Amino acid sequence: MLENVNEKCAVVGIFGHKEASKLAYFSLHALQHRGQEAAGISSSDGEKLHTIKKRGLVMRVFNETKLKTLSGSSAIGHTRYSTAGDDSILDAQPVFARYDLGEMAIAHNGNFTNAEEVRAALIKKGAIFQTFMDTENLIHLIAKSEKTQLTPRIMDAVKRIEGAFSLVFLSRTKMFAMRDRFGFRPLSLGRLPNGGYIVASETCAFDLVSAEFIRDIKPGELLIFKEGREPKSIQIFEPTPKHCIFEYVYFARPDSKVFGQSVYQTRKNMGKELAHIKPIEADVVIPVPDGGVASAIGYAQESGIPYEMGIMRNHYIGRTFIEPTQEMRDLKVKMKLSPMTEIIKGKRVIVIDDSIVRGTTSRRIIRMLKEAGASEVHMRISSPPTTDPCFYGVDTPDKDKLIAANMSTDEICEFIGADSLAYLDSEALLRSVNAKEDNYCTACFTGKYIV
Ligand code: AMP
Repeated sequence: MLENVNEKCAVVGIFGHKEASKLAYFSLHALQHRGQEAAGISSSDGEKLHTIKKRGLVMRVFNETKLKTLSGSSAIGHTRYSTAGDDSILDAQPVFARYDLGEMAIAHNGNFTNAEEVRAALIKKGAIFQTFMDTENLIHLIAKSEKTQLTPRIMDAVKRIEGAFSLVFLSRTKMFAMRDRFGFRPLSLGRLPNGGYIVASETCAFDLVSAEFIRDIKPGELLIFKEGREPKSIQIFEPTPKHCIFEYVYFARPDSKVFGQSVYQTRKNMGKELAHIKPIEADVVIPVPDGGVASAIGYAQESGIPYEMGIMRNHYIGRTFIEPTQEMRDLKVKMKLSPMTEIIKGKRVIVIDDSIVRGTTSRRIIRMLKEAGASEVHMRISSPPTTDPCFYGVDTPDKDKLIAANMSTDEICEFIGADSLAYLDSEALLRSVNAKEDNYCTACFTGKYIV
């Protein structure tokens, strides 16, 4: 089975700037929340591509000397998040290859749903793979295409893959950016202050490098960047927007605008909706930091119950999901979050989090709040129960490990030890993100898969 090593990653591309790799590096810092496992940058000096990638945080992977070797006016970068995979740096991105037209590098956020099928067909024809990443399929498809130029080869290749992909490609003279027809994962285009362009998974990267937001890359669109001209757009697939609603719920940074809307504002709306449809009497509203902060502010504003910082987060510990074993996960929750006793003691507390996946985090948090003296703990979740795994790039465990797929809300409430538990419902979630028609993928809450 292929590993889902491209899930929940970030990509960035810089074109037409003499400090391209430095800007890619800064952008990756802004996108670090999308993946902490490995980072990489490929640059082009017009004749040759240069690549550095390694396991670890962006800050650890690069330094001034290394960035100097990534010369040229275009660069693509990637941060990787995965729960599986071995220690090999081969599984870090960008993926670099030499082929008959020269050199190319690819960085990918998402998941190809037909990856195993495509790979089996390629292997049957003699292809040799170096990694378990589905991104490598794309390299082979491009290399094997009979077209004589790269753009038509890319067009051929992407027509063979299905699923979620926000991609950046780099050749010696061009950069390409592409989103799948559903636009599952975000990808935006911006203008750099001193000329040149940036594409990035989230607009928080634009703010860091003072780039101006131009627009989102459209679902199914391929953008081609070439020196001395405006980016050229080719609409390869008919756009059928199905944006990942979980980007708003949990994944994107609150200061980003994804799918055309502020993440912070949509999260606050979720909190307001939650207060409206699932009210409860209490003394204080507290968030599980950082995921629950914006929705707890919304909940407090709507309910009139004071907002407090009742839990401190240690920012120097990585995300809870990173460690694959259950034992490590439990330990990490304890290391990461600690209660503010003076806020909690003797109080009826409403604690807000964005989601419950396995239930481990909520259970520990509630125990911690009770130990700190809370008289009641009411858990409110700013999304519907997570009942189904994601195949389009968000890392969720199998259905048998998703607590909401196996227990009722009352049973979960008992399991996590809360005095009450309530979730947002799908309608309220869709209202919170101002969903037009049916343009969001909600499979993790509904089991309705698109491809
Ligand atoms: P759990 O202990 O499995 O119920 O984890 C729930 C916590 O994980 C919540 O605080 C969420 O903010 C967070 N979370 C939800 N989805 C993900 C994800 N895909 N990756 C990492 N953390 C997540």
